[in-house]
Amino acid sequence: MKQLIDRLEREHILTQQEFIALLEKRNKTLAAYLFERAVAVRKAVYGNTVYLRGLIEFTNYCKNDCYYCGIRRSNGNVPRYRLTEEEILSCCESGYTLGFRTFVLQGGEDGAFSVPRLCSLVRQIKERFPDCAVTLSVGEFPRADYEAMFAAGADRYLLRHETASADHYRRLHPSNQTPENRKRCLQDLKDIGFQVGCGMMVGSPGQTLANLAEDLHFIYELRPQMVGIGPFIPQHDTPFGGEPAGTLEETLFLLGLLRLMLPQVLLPATTALGTIHPRGRELGILAGANVCMPNLSPVPVREKYALYDHKICTGDEAAECRQCLQSRMASIGYTTVVSRGDHPDFQRKSERN
Ligand code: SAH
Repeated sequence: MKQLIDRLEREHILTQQEFIALLEKRNKTLAAYLFERAVAVRKAVYGNTVYLRGLIEFTNYCKNDCYYCGIRRSNGNVPRYRLTEEEILSCCESGYTLGFRTFVLQGGEDGAFSVPRLCSLVRQIKERFPDCAVTLSVGEFPRADYEAMFAAGADRYLLRHETASADHYRRLHPSNQTPENRKRCLQDLKDIGFQVGCGMMVGSPGQTLANLAEDLHFIYELRPQMVGIGPFIPQHDTPFGGEPAGTLEETLFLLGLLRLMLPQVLLPATTALGTIHPRGRELGILAGANVCMPNLSPVPVREKYALYDHKICTGDEAAECRQCLQSRMASIGYTTVVSRGDHPDFQRKSERN
């Protein structure tokens, strides 16, 4: 099995059968070897730096009804909120003071944030903070809308593909959400010129190792600049509320594989990973991740962005989150940096800004 890892490091891809074999045979020794190789690759590209993104969860209204997600339309138990433009800008303001140079605006698919409104928001952030990158994570839109967001100055877009298998996708979503449209969105975003992030939950209901191997092939072919993965975690008011969570070990293993597959990829150690294990994010970095996304949302709304149960960092002010992550990273020998942290292929653009 170690030879497969060596080959992945050299050639960046394996067959789906080989990926399945690695995932099946995964054990402590194999994982330790994978992480050693992944960290070596990560250090060659990014040294021991960790990029920070300030996450602003600006609305939990959503027109979709994804079976796994706590802010799905049908969940009547979550109090809904949307931040005003002023509140969002003031999150950016305090984030900027704390050293953040990327703001990630994430939300449900909330019609109240029309495309012109989103674009105006992006323009205002870029005007006030011209040295910052803006990442949007607001779901599926027609190509023309993505073009408008890009023209308004958005630099990056996160849209997890959730699963590359069409059958599995239909198990996770109602029939009005199609795997074809999800993939169309990602291709459009890429063609338009965004730095694009896809990704999946690990251990989502019905997921097989073959599905994960398909995910890896899908990611390899799309060649995104970012990949967001985290364990599935049940949320008690959703149809999947009684399903088991994904595991720390499998998520870390996939982070390691992703680092060898796409050496330069921006790979976050996600909040979900930090939620299933007290040192999940540190372990994520030690498996090959190089990004952390602390929360900049106003504390009173944090609990309402309840994608899954027991989400961490719902009580801390942005400054505390920033400090906490910095010391967590220092504890494993890594330093957080103040910079936009673009993908290497996009770094000339950031130098111009
Ligand atoms: N509306 C945006 C943002 C969705 S929330 C969009 O469509 O992209 C961001 C991500 O959280 C989702 O893509 C999903 O992968 C993840 N997520 C949602 N529910 C989750 C759960 N129960 N456990 C773990 N991750 C979850």
